[in-house]
Amino acid sequence: MTKHSRGICQLCGYESTKAGMTKHLASCPAQHDLDSGKSSQLFRLRIEASYASEYWLDLELKGSSNLRVLDKFLRDIWLECCGHLSAFTISNIFYNSSQDGDEGDEALEAEENAQLLALFRERGIPESRWPVRRRERGMDVKISEIFQEGLKFEYEYDFGSTTNLKLKVLSIREGKLSQNLRLLARNKLPEWTCSKCGKPASVLHTEKMYDEENPFYCKTHARGWDDYPYLPIVNSPRMGVCGYTG
Ligand SMILES: [Zn+2]
Ligand SMILES: [Zn+2]
Ligand SMILES: [Zn+2]
Repeated sequence: MTKHSRGICQLCGYESTKAGMTKHLASCPAQHDLDSGKSSQLFRLRIEASYASEYWLDLELKGSSNLRVLDKFLRDIWLECCGHLSAFTISNIFYNSSQDGDEGDEALEAEENAQLLALFRERGIPESRWPVRRRERGMDVKISEIFQEGLKFEYEYDFGSTTNLKLKVLSIREGKLSQNLRLLARNKLPEWTCSKCGKPASVLHTEKMYDEENPFYCKTHARGWDDYPYLPIVNSPRMGVCGYTG
């Protein structure tokens, strides 16, 4: 239904496919750094929607910043509808937006863990089959402490109608940036077409989005297009979910 997804470099305007952008961004960002100032460690990430890979973006993030900075950025550009909880899962640790600071509630975790292990023993489940214990932490964790080149991890926004993202650390460099996080590239809005006439679509039928292959309509073929169940087309994997309008 959609053509090969293309994106635009936000620094120089270059347009290409995802693979082309990965190559381009190996050199473009350094040419757009500050001339003076302190240089710092910068992590370049590719982020895409887990079930809709036509939504993707590249960014770089200072090693001295933290996961909460990344969480806020993702909410602002793609996700925020009504302040749901979110979490990163990185190497079996669950970094939760509702937790303050960078540590989880150790006492509570230890107690829950003890209860769980007691239950396994009681049921006679052999120790070799006990699941790996998942630790919880807050999001105020320094990026340079957890990210390394090639690291892949996941992000969830809203534990009810969840939007899932996949993230990967593509490279690390030294550079001069004024801000903690800089958007490098973003996908162009996919060209959805009306399921009735094939012309460019402008709304999405939110009740049909999970069972019909093409739930998109032009305004002529969407009666009552400015009201529920129709929502505007937006450049986000949260489109159509929980009233998200961008
Ligand atoms: Zn560029
Ligand atoms: Zn919501
Ligand atoms: Zn139409």
